[in-house]
Amino acid sequence: MNRHLCSAVFLAVALLAQSTAHAQATPVVQGPEAVADWFTAGQAFIEQGKSLHDNNRRAKNVVLFVGDGMGISTITAARILEGQLKNKPGEENRLSFDRFPYTALSKTYSWDQQTSDSAPTMTAMATGYKAREGMLSVNHTTARGECNAAVVESKKLRSVLEHAAEMGKSTGIVSTARITHATPAALYAHTAMRDWEADSNLPVTDINTGAACRGADGAVKDIARQMIEVSPQVRKSLKVVLGGGRTYFMPSSLNDPEYPKDKGRRLDGRDLTQDWVTSRASFGRASYAWNKAQFDAFEPANNSYLLGLFEPSHVQYEADRANDPAGEPSLTEMTDKALRVLLKDPKGFFLHVEGGRIDHAHHAGNASRALTDTIEFSNAIQRTLDVLKTSGALEDTLIIVTADHSHTFTIAGYPSRGNHILGLVREVPAKDGAPLKNSLDANGRPFTTLAYTNGPGARPNGRPDLTNVDTTHVDFLQEATVPLAAETHAGEDVAIYARGPKAHLVRGSMEQNWIFHVMMEALK
Ligand SMILES: [Zn+2]
Repeated sequence: MNRHLCSAVFLAVALLAQSTAHAQATPVVQGPEAVADWFTAGQAFIEQGKSLHDNNRRAKNVVLFVGDGMGISTITAARILEGQLKNKPGEENRLSFDRFPYTALSKTYSWDQQTSDSAPTMTAMATGYKAREGMLSVNHTTARGECNAAVVESKKLRSVLEHAAEMGKSTGIVSTARITHATPAALYAHTAMRDWEADSNLPVTDINTGAACRGADGAVKDIARQMIEVSPQVRKSLKVVLGGGRTYFMPSSLNDPEYPKDKGRRLDGRDLTQDWVTSRASFGRASYAWNKAQFDAFEPANNSYLLGLFEPSHVQYEADRANDPAGEPSLTEMTDKALRVLLKDPKGFFLHVEGGRIDHAHHAGNASRALTDTIEFSNAIQRTLDVLKTSGALEDTLIIVTADHSHTFTIAGYPSRGNHILGLVREVPAKDGAPLKNSLDANGRPFTTLAYTNGPGARPNGRPDLTNVDTTHVDFLQEATVPLAAETHAGEDVAIYARGPKAHLVRGSMEQNWIFHVMMEALK
């Protein structure tokens, strides 16, 4: 719906509600609430709080949701957009995890970065230690570019997934990014370089020592290979891995099944998708799926292991998923399937779900796709609540929702209530009932509510006239101040939301690595 139409419909509804409630003329308001609603809602919140009690049960299951780059401004804007898609003003809407009882702030700096990338931030959450830029689950004494496998082994930090496997639980990883990308990889891989996703990404020689690296005896393995060749304990435990990054598992001699022009990225000749099936066969029935039909055909009741890689690189943005050539499951569908595999284990499970492409759309300066992916991430969390409730596992499951870092994404101006979150700023008019008009900058030009501090949306030759531009279009790039090919991460705190056993330990201002300690306290 066009934004003018949307708010016109809303205004009409609001006016109707007002005119039936009161006989005399009332001022035009932007929100649908009656005066008493504000008070009633506040009282309901207090009553709800009184009935809260610390859940000190042991967590049989832990689910860690990470919205990659899902800063607080992203949550606010996605919440508004989701509400507006339901023809509501939007600000009062609640995403699934907005209802969680416990929240905290997470400080996301790493050992050597004020503003971090996804590698040390997920390492912090996964292992309990802050670490170095670009490194996955190795401690901060590791040298950049370290290629010696024995040295890496000595620096290794054990992840919550590895601990859960040791407890005899099932484990799973779901992401919309490549499964070898920093966030999911920090749970199973240990490496000084997050970019070493396939063997072709490894350097020929070690940058520090000059020793042979790629393919050499005693050299560190690439991330895709590490996933297949995890310890026997993790191999048995890791039941379901769903996401993107297919070509990192395929030999260069094979063409991609969905995009035949793409080839595998492996130089060692191995097809790791087949190695997944054969290396898990002794534990149970294992399958590999690369499209939606195969994914749908996988029946958790009579299968144990599922590797699903639905794109050569990251899976599609939710906004584009319907156009995927071979079809691919949504984050919600992947999460649902993973839960159904993991819930079979009477000892419980650890599951990580990443909304990985919120981050990518932000890097592209494209708020529409970032917010649509955030809404889908919220849907996956809602589905998790529903599935766990139905199966009776909800009160034994610690669920944490957080982000690894923020983005330079802002919600600015004085837009009126219900103004399209992707639209131009239109302020509350000076006189009630007057039409909303665009707010104008010093040169008389309108501007959008959403923007970035830096990135590809910068217009070095001056601000464009957006008067007749559809800024709600899925491809619109929000304006930015500093021109950069890719918008950057931001360094302020992100939010943590928690529910379930030991969720009350999520409180106040936390270091990001303390999230690991909450999960372990709940599991022990
Ligand atoms: Zn990023």
